[in-house]
Amino acid sequence: MITLIDGKAVAAEIRSAISREIQSLKIQPGLAAVLVGDNPASKIYVRSKRKACEEVGIYSESCSLSEKVSETDLLACIDRLNRDSKIHGILVQLPLPKQINTRRILDAVSSDKDIDGFHYLNMGKLVANEPGFRPCTPLGVIKLIQASQVPIAGAHAVVIGRSDIVGKPTALLLLHEHATVTLCHSKTKGLNEICRQADIVVAAIGKPLFVTQEMVKPGAVVIDVGINRLEDGRLVGDVDFEGVSKTAQAITPVPGGVGPMTIAMLLSNTLQSALNFVK
Ligand code: NAD
Repeated sequence: MITLIDGKAVAAEIRSAISREIQSLKIQPGLAAVLVGDNPASKIYVRSKRKACEEVGIYSESCSLSEKVSETDLLACIDRLNRDSKIHGILVQLPLPKQINTRRILDAVSSDKDIDGFHYLNMGKLVANEPGFRPCTPLGVIKLIQASQVPIAGAHAVVIGRSDIVGKPTALLLLHEHATVTLCHSKTKGLNEICRQADIVVAAIGKPLFVTQEMVKPGAVVIDVGINRLEDGRLVGDVDFEGVSKTAQAITPVPGGVGPMTIAMLLSNTLQSALNFVK
């Protein structure tokens, strides 16, 4: 029997726990979202992150800047938020326009408020397995595998996709949970064979229905990070859900899998940041 890993339900539990903890705190955690330009998807993401903040009692504000903003003005906005004591978490919604050096901006966010875990210092701490902020989507992936009750230690985990925000940090988190990790990408040879050896498959490619039934070993756990809009308007993941469901032991749906967990982890990191400030 296939288990559907219900990201919405797991995320709802985490959000309730965060909400309860915030009610017992003397301070209110605060998150600021920096939004540059009019990218409709970015606007939707920022709106849903702010709504999620409100629901659990996190103060939120957004700093919306024009598509043509200069790097100097954007840095000034981040500097102001770094010094604002109401704000414990700062997220810069990506992608940024071409005139902006994204790395410079991500590193301008105080590493103590870097709840996305994109600052070089936090990336280094992830590599070294030292305490620090971890990127939200990879953290959500780990929580979902744990929710499926499948042990990570000793498992062979295959991560497809090596981006700095999803694939690479997910591989590192799995490694720190003692999985044997294979990180695959567009130049990987024999991907299907490698994938078929996996106890855990994480798909973070950005190609609709890329992972098929033939690529998945019977009994594997499959986590689908992909979000792809088809021409007919349907939202699908990177995994052929219908086919893979016949083979896998457990699988996440899209929507309702990793997506809700990303936001829950953002709230969790913001709460953690506020707690660090009052320590
Ligand atoms: P990306 O484009 O930065 O990286 C894609 C990766 O896939 C690359 O490392 C590339 O090497 C690999 N790849 C491409 N073609 C391949 C192939 N034929 N075989 C093997 N590997 C291949 O994308 P990303 O930012 O990592 O996002 C990946 C997907 O996850 C996207 O669909 C994105 O929308 C989604 N996403 C979802 C969430 C969420 O909260 N659910 C968050 C972030 C990203």
